[in-house]
Amino acid sequence: MAVATEREYGLFINGESTEPASGEIRELSEPATGEPLARVASAGEEDVDRAVAAAQAALAGDWGKTPPTERSRLLHALADAIQANRKELAELEARNVGKAISSVKAELAQGVENFRFYASAIASIAGRSNPIGGSLLFYSLKEPVGVAGQIVPWNYPLMMTTWKLAPALAAGCTIVLKPDSATPLTALRMAELAAEVGFPPGTLNVVPGPGTTVGAHLVRHPGVDKIAFTGSTATGSEIMRLGADTIKRLTLELGGKSPNIVFADANLEDAIPSSVWSIYYSAGQSCEARSRMLVEASLYDEFVSSFSEAAKRLKVGDPLEAETQVGSLISPEHRDKVHGFVEQGREEGAEVVAGGEPLEGKGAFYPPTVLANVDNRMTVAQEEIFGPVVTITPFEDEKEAARLANDVKYGLMATIWTGDPARGHRLARRIKAGTVGINMPYTAFPGIPFGGYKQSGFGRELGLDTLELYLETKSVLVSTSPKPFNPFGL
Ligand code: NAD
Repeated sequence: MAVATEREYGLFINGESTEPASGEIRELSEPATGEPLARVASAGEEDVDRAVAAAQAALAGDWGKTPPTERSRLLHALADAIQANRKELAELEARNVGKAISSVKAELAQGVENFRFYASAIASIAGRSNPIGGSLLFYSLKEPVGVAGQIVPWNYPLMMTTWKLAPALAAGCTIVLKPDSATPLTALRMAELAAEVGFPPGTLNVVPGPGTTVGAHLVRHPGVDKIAFTGSTATGSEIMRLGADTIKRLTLELGGKSPNIVFADANLEDAIPSSVWSIYYSAGQSCEARSRMLVEASLYDEFVSSFSEAAKRLKVGDPLEAETQVGSLISPEHRDKVHGFVEQGREEGAEVVAGGEPLEGKGAFYPPTVLANVDNRMTVAQEEIFGPVVTITPFEDEKEAARLANDVKYGLMATIWTGDPARGHRLARRIKAGTVGINMPYTAFPGIPFGGYKQSGFGRELGLDTLELYLETKSVLVSTSPKPFNPFGL
């Protein structure tokens, strides 16, 4: 397997790998083993300036002149290159994040489809002309918003990067991408592939580095026209402040505390395994993790018992093993934070019915954990834990289910399990969330808008509408009158 373990990675600016101005290199290790993985250049503000200048030059130069059909061809070519290098990319991602390789493979496949979807969606970018009467002719032009600064977190580095890159490139923008400093490897590798398939230098630049310096500088930068950010709600709020001075266009994909509502008439053969998947996928380190199980009271005891038994059967371990279902958490520090929440839950009166203690040995492993008897006002039901920890809370009827579902500051996702389709649709309308699944745990597909209500952010990714967030509309007005236009009668 040709994974470049302990390979050195530079920044990727203007079509090539380059040293950071400071010469600073960061050592990365594998979260699952603690073993060294790679040495990666860490960008500083000067490097961001260089990347933004390269992105501006590409926009004014070759990339800005690239017609839509050629942009479409290049997006397909990048999809092909990712597909051809999938083994290398998947192993790199699994080692860098500690995520189960089976999950990484599914995310990579979706990443490829994202590029293909937006390669086709380019055809939908068009202005319009409508009659406004008299001798005036009007038409609109759709133009790229300019240089897009894109900031991604550590939990889905490869897939999130494809969510960000594909619509921006389709719209004709150039990009300065800042991956999380802990998980930059697949983004750097994809930038190399983009250059190899022919994206002009400067079109896609990647500058890994700390959020509070490199990320903040990118957000404040006057040469950056738009910021697309995925990360925590606290950082999203800071980005709104930092972007205010330069009136940044913003897309914010933030945190979640999503409910999974199970009615007593649900098909449990489907609802139990799907509900288990919807929290423990990616070891619960997902924005859309259904981390609150809301269960109809008459089903509560049976659900707690069946759900916990299923959670205990999950295979936790080496991310590179094909059978592993739950890999490592991102770091020992994050595992301690997750465990701190579980301890707090115990103190608040929750009952730990599965997991609840960090796993011994190397790596940052934490077992699938179930907290029962949870009141929705407890900290563990309100705060995003971002680990393999679920709370289970009973409800009496549909009205209470809707109230509890909405009783958090977030609104990213919700899933409803019921044998009554009309109830599913009724409830879908009452829940304040960007995506609602009815008897369906999956959340994100190319072509289907994904994003948040409330403090889960604004703007949508993955959809056709996402293109609009990377475009400006210019109105062009023309007089076709044979007479001179002389409003002052001069
Ligand atoms: P984070 O907010 O700490 O970091 C996210 C990114 O922002 C990183 O690249 C980081 O370096 C950068 N950053 C940090 N401070 C910054 C600043 N002041 N200015 C500019 N950039 C800055 O989040 P995290 O802990 O890495 O990621 C987990 C969070 O992301 C969770 O809250 C999760 O729900 C959320 N998330 C949301 C979605 C979604 O689509 N809604 C998807 C995945 C993750």
